Amino acid sequence: MRSWARPEIPRLAGHGPVPRVWDTPSGGLVEARPLAVANLYVCGITPYDATHLGHAATYLAYDTLVRLWLDAGYDVTYVQNVTDVDDPLLERAAATGVDWRELAAGQVDLFRSDMRALAVIPPDHYVAVTEVVPAIVESVVRLLGTGAAYRVGPDVYFDGAAAAAASPWHLGQESRLDRETMLALSAERGGDPATPGKRDPLDPVLWRGERAGEPSWPGGPLGPGRPGWHIECSVIAQELMDIPMTVQGGGHDLVFPHHEYSAGHTAALTGRDHAAVYAHAGLVAYRGEKMSKSLGNLVLVSELTGAGVDPRAVRLAVLAQHYRSDWEWTSAVLDAGLARLRSWTEWSRRTVRGTPLTADLRAALSRDLDTPAAIALVDAAVLSGGGPAEGDLAAIHALLGVEIR
Ligand code: ZN
Repeated sequence: MRSWARPEIPRLAGHGPVPRVWDTPSGGLVEARPLAVANLYVCGITPYDATHLGHAATYLAYDTLVRLWLDAGYDVTYVQNVTDVDDPLLERAAATGVDWRELAAGQVDLFRSDMRALAVIPPDHYVAVTEVVPAIVESVVRLLGTGAAYRVGPDVYFDGAAAAAASPWHLGQESRLDRETMLALSAERGGDPATPGKRDPLDPVLWRGERAGEPSWPGGPLGPGRPGWHIECSVIAQELMDIPMTVQGGGHDLVFPHHEYSAGHTAALTGRDHAAVYAHAGLVAYRGEKMSKSLGNLVLVSELTGAGVDPRAVRLAVLAQHYRSDWEWTSAVLDAGLARLRSWTEWSRRTVRGTPLTADLRAALSRDLDTPAAIALVDAAVLSGGGPAEGDLAAIHALLGVEIR
Protein backbone atom coordinates (compact mmCIF):
# COMPACT_ATOMS: atom_id res chain seq x y z
CA MET A 1 0.00 0.00 0.00
CA ARG A 2 1.15 3.55 -0.62
CA SER A 3 2.84 5.17 2.38
CA TRP A 4 3.27 8.96 2.69
CA ALA A 5 5.98 11.45 1.76
CA ARG A 6 9.17 11.33 3.77
CA PRO A 7 10.03 14.56 5.60
CA GLU A 8 13.43 16.15 5.18
CA ILE A 9 15.84 14.82 7.82
CA PRO A 10 19.12 16.75 8.05
CA ARG A 11 22.26 14.69 8.55
CA LEU A 12 24.22 15.82 11.57
CA ALA A 13 27.98 15.76 12.08
CA GLY A 14 29.09 12.58 13.91
CA HIS A 15 26.73 10.02 15.38
CA GLY A 16 24.50 9.80 18.42
CA PRO A 17 24.50 6.81 20.82
CA VAL A 18 22.40 3.67 20.40
CA PRO A 19 19.04 4.53 22.02
CA ARG A 20 17.86 2.81 25.18
CA VAL A 21 14.16 2.15 25.62
CA TRP A 22 11.93 0.59 28.26
CA ASP A 23 11.33 -3.08 27.49
CA THR A 24 7.99 -4.39 28.77
CA PRO A 25 9.03 -8.09 29.26
CA SER A 26 12.20 -7.30 31.21
CA GLY A 27 10.69 -4.30 32.99
CA GLY A 28 13.71 -2.07 32.50
CA LEU A 29 15.72 0.06 30.12
CA VAL A 30 17.56 -1.88 27.42
CA GLU A 31 19.71 -0.87 24.51
CA ALA A 32 17.71 -1.09 21.26
CA ARG A 33 20.84 -2.15 19.39
CA PRO A 34 20.22 -3.38 15.85
CA LEU A 35 22.12 -6.46 14.65
CA ALA A 36 22.62 -5.00 11.18
CA VAL A 37 19.55 -3.06 10.14
CA ALA A 38 17.21 -1.62 12.77
CA ASN A 39 13.93 -3.48 12.28
CA LEU A 40 10.86 -1.75 13.69
CA TYR A 41 7.27 -2.92 13.54
CA VAL A 42 4.58 -0.61 14.89
CA CYS A 43 0.99 -1.80 14.88
CA GLY A 44 -1.09 0.43 12.66
CA ILE A 45 -4.61 1.75 12.70
CA THR A 46 -7.93 0.06 12.19
CA PRO A 47 -9.25 2.64 9.73
CA TYR A 48 -12.77 3.39 10.87
CA ASP A 49 -12.28 6.84 12.39
CA ALA A 50 -9.80 9.59 11.67
CA THR A 51 -6.39 10.12 13.25
CA HIS A 52 -6.76 11.41 16.76
CA LEU A 53 -4.10 12.79 19.06
CA GLY A 54 -3.71 9.37 20.69
CA HIS A 55 -2.59 7.88 17.37
CA ALA A 56 -0.39 10.86 16.69
CA ALA A 57 1.34 10.43 20.05
CA THR A 58 2.01 6.74 19.44
CA TYR A 59 3.49 7.23 15.97
CA LEU A 60 5.50 10.25 17.13
CA ALA A 61 7.09 8.09 19.84
CA TYR A 62 8.45 5.57 17.32
CA ASP A 63 9.28 8.38 14.93
CA THR A 64 11.71 9.60 17.59
CA LEU A 65 13.21 6.10 17.81
CA VAL A 66 13.69 5.98 14.02
CA ARG A 67 15.36 9.40 14.10
CA LEU A 68 17.77 8.23 16.81
CA TRP A 69 18.69 5.07 14.92
CA LEU A 70 19.33 7.09 11.76
CA ASP A 71 21.44 9.54 13.78
CA ALA A 72 23.37 6.60 15.28
CA GLY A 73 24.27 5.55 11.73
CA TYR A 74 21.91 2.60 11.23
CA ASP A 75 19.74 1.76 8.29
CA VAL A 76 16.15 1.29 9.39
CA THR A 77 13.44 -1.01 8.06
CA TYR A 78 10.14 0.21 9.43
CA VAL A 79 6.98 -1.80 8.88
CA GLN A 80 3.46 -0.74 9.80
CA ASN A 81 0.21 -2.53 9.06
CA VAL A 82 -3.34 -1.37 8.50
CA THR A 83 -6.01 -3.63 9.96
CA ASP A 84 -8.37 -2.93 7.11
CA VAL A 85 -10.72 -5.77 7.89
CA ASP A 86 -11.77 -6.22 11.50
CA ASP A 87 -14.96 -6.27 13.58
CA PRO A 88 -15.00 -2.55 14.57
CA LEU A 89 -14.50 -1.46 10.96
CA LEU A 90 -17.24 -3.76 9.69
CA GLU A 91 -19.59 -2.68 12.48
CA ARG A 92 -19.00 0.99 11.72
CA ALA A 93 -19.51 0.39 8.00
CA ALA A 94 -22.79 -1.44 8.68
CA ALA A 95 -23.99 1.27 11.08
CA THR A 96 -23.29 4.11 8.64
CA GLY A 97 -24.27 2.29 5.45
CA VAL A 98 -20.84 2.95 3.92
CA ASP A 99 -19.00 0.15 2.13
CA TRP A 100 -16.22 -1.08 4.46
CA ARG A 101 -13.60 -0.68 1.70
CA GLU A 102 -14.60 2.94 1.11
CA LEU A 103 -14.64 3.68 4.82
CA ALA A 104 -11.16 2.18 5.24
CA ALA A 105 -9.69 3.91 2.18
CA GLY A 106 -11.00 7.31 3.28
CA GLN A 107 -9.68 6.94 6.81
CA VAL A 108 -6.27 5.71 5.63
CA ASP A 109 -6.05 8.78 3.38
CA LEU A 110 -6.75 11.04 6.35
CA PHE A 111 -4.17 9.18 8.41
CA ARG A 112 -1.54 9.66 5.69
CA SER A 113 -2.19 13.39 5.43
CA ASP A 114 -2.08 13.80 9.22
CA MET A 115 1.20 11.88 9.48
CA ARG A 116 2.64 13.93 6.67
CA ALA A 117 1.55 17.19 8.28
CA LEU A 118 3.22 16.13 11.53
CA ALA A 119 6.46 15.25 9.64
CA VAL A 120 6.31 11.63 10.82
CA ILE A 121 8.81 9.42 8.98
CA PRO A 122 6.76 6.96 6.92
CA PRO A 123 7.14 3.20 7.22
CA ASP A 124 9.20 1.58 4.45
CA HIS A 125 6.46 -1.00 4.12
CA TYR A 126 2.88 0.05 4.74
CA VAL A 127 0.85 -3.11 4.50
CA ALA A 128 -2.89 -3.71 4.60
CA VAL A 129 -4.01 -7.04 5.95
CA THR A 130 -6.15 -7.52 2.84
CA GLU A 131 -2.88 -7.54 0.84
CA VAL A 132 -1.39 -10.51 2.68
CA VAL A 133 -4.30 -12.92 3.13
CA PRO A 134 -2.66 -15.77 1.12
CA ALA A 135 0.49 -15.64 3.30
CA ILE A 136 -1.69 -15.71 6.42
CA VAL A 137 -3.65 -18.70 5.11
CA GLU A 138 -0.39 -20.54 4.43
CA SER A 139 0.82 -19.81 8.00
CA VAL A 140 -2.43 -20.96 9.60
CA VAL A 141 -2.33 -24.17 7.55
CA ARG A 142 1.22 -24.76 8.83
CA LEU A 143 0.13 -24.19 12.44
CA LEU A 144 -2.67 -26.73 12.00
CA GLY A 145 -0.07 -29.15 10.61
CA THR A 146 2.24 -28.79 13.62
CA GLY A 147 -0.58 -29.07 16.16
CA ALA A 148 -0.28 -25.44 17.26
CA ALA A 149 -3.80 -24.73 15.96
CA TYR A 150 -7.19 -26.45 16.03
CA ARG A 151 -10.61 -26.04 14.53
CA VAL A 152 -13.76 -24.94 16.33
CA GLY A 153 -16.59 -25.16 13.82
CA PRO A 154 -15.67 -22.98 10.84
CA ASP A 155 -12.94 -21.16 12.80
CA VAL A 156 -9.31 -21.98 13.55
CA TYR A 157 -7.77 -21.16 16.93
CA PHE A 158 -4.18 -20.98 18.18
CA ASP A 159 -3.29 -23.63 20.73
CA GLY A 160 -1.28 -21.61 23.24
CA ALA A 161 -0.30 -24.61 25.35
CA ALA A 162 0.87 -26.67 22.37
CA ALA A 163 2.84 -23.73 20.98
CA ALA A 164 4.49 -23.07 24.33
CA ALA A 165 5.60 -26.69 24.58
CA ALA A 166 7.25 -26.57 21.15
CA SER A 167 8.73 -23.06 20.86
CA PRO A 168 10.79 -20.49 22.80
CA TRP A 169 7.56 -18.65 23.69
CA HIS A 170 5.32 -19.19 26.72
CA LEU A 171 2.13 -17.42 27.68
CA GLY A 172 3.04 -14.36 29.73
CA GLN A 173 6.54 -14.09 28.30
CA GLU A 174 5.89 -10.68 26.81
CA SER A 175 3.15 -9.27 29.07
CA ARG A 176 4.21 -10.83 32.43
CA LEU A 177 0.54 -10.76 33.44
CA ASP A 178 -1.26 -13.27 35.63
CA ARG A 179 -3.99 -15.42 34.15
CA GLU A 180 -6.86 -13.57 35.79
CA THR A 181 -5.72 -10.26 34.29
CA MET A 182 -5.22 -11.92 30.92
CA LEU A 183 -8.78 -13.24 30.95
CA ALA A 184 -10.18 -9.81 31.75
CA LEU A 185 -8.08 -8.06 29.10
CA SER A 186 -8.89 -10.70 26.50
CA ALA A 187 -12.61 -10.00 26.92
CA GLU A 188 -12.02 -6.25 26.78
CA ARG A 189 -9.66 -6.13 23.83
CA GLY A 190 -11.08 -8.17 21.00
CA GLY A 191 -10.63 -11.69 22.39
CA ASP A 192 -13.44 -14.21 22.88
CA PRO A 193 -12.75 -16.10 26.12
CA ALA A 194 -16.41 -17.14 26.42
CA THR A 195 -16.57 -18.95 23.06
CA PRO A 196 -17.38 -22.62 23.72
CA GLY A 197 -15.20 -25.40 22.34
CA LYS A 198 -11.82 -23.76 22.83
CA ARG A 199 -9.01 -25.66 24.54
CA ASP A 200 -8.11 -22.57 26.55
CA PRO A 201 -10.44 -19.53 26.85
CA LEU A 202 -7.43 -17.34 26.04
CA ASP A 203 -6.59 -19.06 22.73
CA PRO A 204 -7.02 -16.41 20.01
CA VAL A 205 -8.65 -16.89 16.62
CA LEU A 206 -6.30 -17.36 13.66
CA TRP A 207 -8.92 -17.70 10.94
CA ARG A 208 -12.55 -16.70 11.27
CA GLY A 209 -14.74 -18.76 8.99
CA GLU A 210 -17.07 -16.92 6.65
CA ARG A 211 -20.23 -15.41 8.20
CA ALA A 212 -23.22 -14.13 6.31
CA GLY A 213 -22.85 -10.45 5.44
CA GLU A 214 -19.13 -10.31 6.21
CA PRO A 215 -16.33 -10.07 3.67
CA SER A 216 -14.31 -13.23 3.21
CA TRP A 217 -11.31 -14.52 1.29
CA PRO A 218 -10.48 -17.95 -0.10
CA GLY A 219 -8.79 -19.97 2.64
CA GLY A 220 -7.85 -23.12 0.73
CA PRO A 221 -8.08 -25.98 3.23
CA LEU A 222 -9.27 -23.51 5.89
CA GLY A 223 -12.39 -22.66 3.93
CA PRO A 224 -13.44 -19.07 3.16
CA GLY A 225 -13.01 -16.55 5.95
CA ARG A 226 -10.79 -13.76 7.22
CA PRO A 227 -7.64 -13.51 9.34
CA GLY A 228 -7.45 -13.05 13.09
CA TRP A 229 -5.73 -9.95 14.40
CA HIS A 230 -2.47 -11.22 15.94
CA ILE A 231 -1.55 -13.54 13.06
CA GLU A 232 -1.82 -10.56 10.74
CA CYS A 233 1.05 -8.68 12.42
CA SER A 234 3.11 -11.82 12.97
CA VAL A 235 2.99 -12.77 9.28
CA ILE A 236 3.57 -9.24 7.94
CA ALA A 237 6.62 -8.91 10.20
CA GLN A 238 8.04 -12.27 9.10
CA GLU A 239 7.54 -11.41 5.43
CA LEU A 240 9.39 -8.11 5.59
CA MET A 241 11.99 -8.25 8.36
CA ASP A 242 14.61 -10.45 9.97
CA ILE A 243 13.13 -12.12 13.04
CA PRO A 244 13.59 -11.39 15.90
CA MET A 245 12.97 -7.78 14.96
CA THR A 246 14.80 -5.08 16.92
CA VAL A 247 11.71 -3.42 18.42
CA GLN A 248 8.00 -4.23 18.42
CA GLY A 249 6.05 -1.09 19.20
CA GLY A 250 2.50 0.05 19.85
CA GLY A 251 0.32 1.55 22.54
CA HIS A 252 0.37 -0.20 25.91
CA ASP A 253 -3.17 -1.43 25.32
CA LEU A 254 -1.53 -3.84 22.85
CA VAL A 255 0.67 -5.53 25.48
CA PHE A 256 -2.00 -8.19 25.95
CA PRO A 257 -3.37 -10.02 24.09
CA HIS A 258 -2.08 -8.57 20.82
CA HIS A 259 1.69 -8.56 21.29
CA GLU A 260 1.68 -11.62 23.53
CA TYR A 261 0.05 -13.71 20.82
CA SER A 262 1.85 -12.06 17.90
CA ALA A 263 4.99 -13.30 19.69
CA GLY A 264 3.42 -16.72 20.23
CA HIS A 265 2.45 -17.06 16.56
CA THR A 266 5.88 -15.99 15.33
CA ALA A 267 7.64 -18.39 17.71
CA ALA A 268 5.38 -21.27 16.68
CA LEU A 269 6.03 -20.52 12.98
CA THR A 270 9.76 -19.77 13.08
CA GLY A 271 11.13 -21.27 16.30
CA ARG A 272 12.48 -17.80 17.04
CA ASP A 273 11.55 -14.91 19.27
CA HIS A 274 9.30 -12.31 17.63
CA ALA A 275 11.22 -9.25 18.89
CA ALA A 276 14.31 -8.41 20.92
CA VAL A 277 12.54 -5.48 22.60
CA TYR A 278 8.87 -4.63 23.19
CA ALA A 279 8.46 -0.89 23.71
CA HIS A 280 5.03 0.49 24.52
CA ALA A 281 3.64 4.00 24.35
CA GLY A 282 1.22 5.61 26.80
CA LEU A 283 -2.38 6.48 26.02
CA VAL A 284 -3.84 9.94 25.66
CA ALA A 285 -6.95 10.98 27.55
CA TYR A 286 -9.34 13.81 26.78
CA ARG A 287 -11.92 15.18 29.21
CA GLY A 288 -11.01 12.61 31.80
CA GLU A 289 -11.20 9.45 29.67
CA LYS A 290 -8.89 7.56 27.35
CA MET A 291 -9.24 9.10 23.90
CA SER A 292 -10.96 6.44 21.86
CA LYS A 293 -13.28 5.95 18.98
CA SER A 294 -15.73 3.97 21.04
CA LEU A 295 -16.02 6.74 23.65
CA GLY A 296 -16.34 9.39 20.97
CA ASN A 297 -14.00 11.83 22.71
CA LEU A 298 -11.52 12.36 19.91
CA VAL A 299 -9.36 15.35 19.13
CA LEU A 300 -8.48 15.03 15.46
CA VAL A 301 -5.18 16.22 14.05
CA SER A 302 -6.94 17.25 10.84
CA GLU A 303 -9.38 19.43 12.80
CA LEU A 304 -6.52 21.23 14.53
CA THR A 305 -4.55 21.81 11.35
CA GLY A 306 -7.76 22.67 9.49
CA ALA A 307 -8.41 25.39 12.11
CA GLY A 308 -5.01 26.87 11.26
CA VAL A 309 -2.89 25.37 14.03
CA ASP A 310 0.71 24.96 12.85
CA PRO A 311 1.39 21.20 12.87
CA ARG A 312 4.83 21.90 14.36
CA ALA A 313 3.07 23.24 17.46
CA VAL A 314 1.00 20.03 17.67
CA ARG A 315 4.22 18.06 17.39
CA LEU A 316 5.88 20.11 20.14
CA ALA A 317 2.77 19.75 22.31
CA VAL A 318 2.86 15.95 22.01
CA LEU A 319 6.65 15.65 22.37
CA ALA A 320 6.51 17.68 25.60
CA GLN A 321 4.91 14.55 27.17
CA HIS A 322 7.02 11.46 27.80
CA TYR A 323 5.99 8.77 25.33
CA ARG A 324 5.54 6.16 28.04
CA SER A 325 3.24 8.15 30.29
CA ASP A 326 -0.51 8.34 30.01
CA TRP A 327 -1.46 11.99 29.71
CA GLU A 328 -4.39 14.21 28.93
CA TRP A 329 -4.79 16.47 25.92
CA THR A 330 -6.02 19.90 27.05
CA SER A 331 -6.07 23.34 25.51
CA ALA A 332 -3.19 24.21 27.88
CA VAL A 333 -1.07 21.45 26.30
CA LEU A 334 -1.70 22.89 22.85
CA ASP A 335 -1.14 26.47 24.05
CA ALA A 336 2.24 25.44 25.46
CA GLY A 337 3.17 23.95 22.07
CA LEU A 338 2.13 27.14 20.29
CA ALA A 339 4.04 29.34 22.75
CA ARG A 340 7.13 27.16 22.44
CA LEU A 341 7.09 27.33 18.65
CA ARG A 342 6.94 31.13 18.88
CA SER A 343 9.76 31.41 21.42
CA TRP A 344 12.02 28.95 19.57
CA THR A 345 11.41 30.84 16.32
CA GLU A 346 12.35 34.13 17.99
CA TRP A 347 15.47 32.44 19.46
CA SER A 348 16.50 31.12 16.02
CA ARG A 349 16.84 34.70 14.79
CA ARG A 350 19.22 35.81 17.52
CA THR A 351 22.76 36.35 16.30
CA VAL A 352 24.72 35.84 19.54
CA ARG A 353 25.85 32.22 19.50
CA GLY A 354 24.97 30.10 22.52
CA THR A 355 26.50 26.85 23.84
CA PRO A 356 26.06 23.97 21.34
CA LEU A 357 23.11 21.69 22.16
CA THR A 358 23.53 18.70 19.84
CA ALA A 359 25.45 16.40 22.20
CA ASP A 360 23.06 17.05 25.08
CA LEU A 361 20.00 16.55 22.86
CA ARG A 362 21.40 13.22 21.67
CA ALA A 363 22.15 12.11 25.22
CA ALA A 364 18.70 13.10 26.54
CA LEU A 365 16.80 11.42 23.72
CA SER A 366 18.84 8.23 23.81
CA ARG A 367 17.68 7.76 27.44
CA ASP A 368 14.27 6.26 26.72
CA LEU A 369 13.33 8.80 24.04
CA ASP A 370 13.15 11.57 26.63
CA THR A 371 11.65 14.28 24.44
CA PRO A 372 10.52 16.41 27.43
CA ALA A 373 14.15 16.58 28.60
CA ALA A 374 15.32 17.47 25.09
CA ILE A 375 12.69 20.20 24.85
CA ALA A 376 13.74 21.53 28.25
CA LEU A 377 17.33 21.85 26.97
CA VAL A 378 16.17 24.06 24.11
CA ASP A 379 13.90 26.04 26.45
CA ALA A 380 16.91 26.69 28.71
CA ALA A 381 18.96 27.85 25.72
CA VAL A 382 16.12 30.20 24.75
CA LEU A 383 16.04 31.63 28.31
CA SER A 384 19.83 32.09 28.38
CA GLY A 385 19.50 35.12 26.12
CA GLY A 386 21.85 33.79 23.42
CA GLY A 387 20.93 32.32 20.09
CA PRO A 388 21.47 28.88 18.57
CA ALA A 389 25.00 27.57 18.11
CA GLU A 390 26.04 26.16 14.77
CA GLY A 391 24.22 22.89 14.17
CA ASP A 392 21.56 23.41 16.85
CA LEU A 393 18.70 24.08 14.45
CA ALA A 394 19.67 21.11 12.29
CA ALA A 395 19.81 18.92 15.41
CA ILE A 396 16.33 20.04 16.51
CA HIS A 397 15.08 19.38 13.00
CA ALA A 398 16.73 15.95 12.68
CA LEU A 399 16.08 14.62 16.19
CA LEU A 400 12.82 16.28 17.24
CA GLY A 401 11.45 16.63 13.70
CA VAL A 402 10.66 20.31 14.13
CA GLU A 403 12.05 22.70 11.56
CA ILE A 404 12.47 26.10 13.19
CA ARG A 405 12.50 28.78 10.53
ZN1 ZN B 1 -0.06 -5.54 15.54
